Amino acid sequence: MKVHNFSAGPCILPQVVFDKMAEACLNFNNSGTSILEISHRRKDAVEVIDNARALVKELMNVPATHDVLFMQGGASLQFPTVAYNLLTEGGKAAYLDSGKWAANAIKEAKRFGEINVVASSKEDNYNYVPKGYDIPTDVDYFHCTSNNTIFGTQMKEFPTTNAPLVCDMSSDILSKHVDVSKFGVIYAGAQKNMGPAGSAVAIVQKDLLGKTGRNIPDYLNYETHIKKESSFNTWPVIAIYGVMLNLQWLKEQGGVEAIAKVNTAKAEAMYAEIDRNGLFTGTANIEDRSQMNATFVLNNENIKAEFDAMLKEAGVVSLAGHRDVGGYRASMYNALPLESVQVLVEVMKQFEQKFG
Ligand code: PMP
Repeated sequence: MKVHNFSAGPCILPQVVFDKMAEACLNFNNSGTSILEISHRRKDAVEVIDNARALVKELMNVPATHDVLFMQGGASLQFPTVAYNLLTEGGKAAYLDSGKWAANAIKEAKRFGEINVVASSKEDNYNYVPKGYDIPTDVDYFHCTSNNTIFGTQMKEFPTTNAPLVCDMSSDILSKHVDVSKFGVIYAGAQKNMGPAGSAVAIVQKDLLGKTGRNIPDYLNYETHIKKESSFNTWPVIAIYGVMLNLQWLKEQGGVEAIAKVNTAKAEAMYAEIDRNGLFTGTANIEDRSQMNATFVLNNENIKAEFDAMLKEAGVVSLAGHRDVGGYRASMYNALPLESVQVLVEVMKQFEQKFG
């Protein structure tokens, strides 16, 4: 039976990525060796990371002022890394508290200096994106999270500020156009729209670095990875190979602009059904709804087992909400076909006919 995978991450990737990764595990590029047993410094491995970097630059139109780094430790290690690299000794940074990951980024940054939380939607269970806040002028940077994976909200625009803009784009990178030149640092854990888990990408404006006066551990210093072209230490060859294949697939789809149209169509179909169907309620503020993660609840919990059984029957998997919030969450990353959303919508309609 065909499975429709709505997992929030690691998530569905294009079938061609799975096929080529599987092949590479047995015989990488017809070399007679598995991709799992080769040096990250072997020529064909270096080509993988070079291609992956070039594809990020091309697909996101990264200007020459910025570099693209592949690091490990996921987005979580980027939280302190950003502060290490940009927050001066005795300096201040501004953060927007728009979700659990934003709060985690704040927690880590507080180890490095004074953090000014410009606004927070915590009191309302993070169901909206705060707006209309002021960003102080004396901060080293302003940090925000473009997509709130858990609560299903997404920033539709970014504030204008004279401070460098730093953004955690873990759950919506490459899903729509962003003007990279407006950002000091963009980072993301790979395991949604970039590829499989195992790496994080950081897109860094080079002239912001080297100014904190801190003694930064080599691995956490962006300058190390710029100088060593992301090969300072052993990088996960199979994971970056997956990123490269996934980016090649995205390019073949027509790139970010083309996939953005598909993402909009999926989100519209999903939210139209959530709003139409009397048995469900969307949990995020309508104007802030995420195109990547649609969160909703079943109004009558007593019929949950019946809905879950119908989902299973239709091959819809991983629709449960985050363990902290419950309910349902339809994650609709780039590789999820529109057809999967249509199957889910059909199940919701049939469920309404039976129980509505
Ligand atoms: N930021 C956001 C927006 C996320 O969605 C996640 C994980 N889902 C993280 C950070 C943490 O990422 P990682 O697991 O790669 O550390």
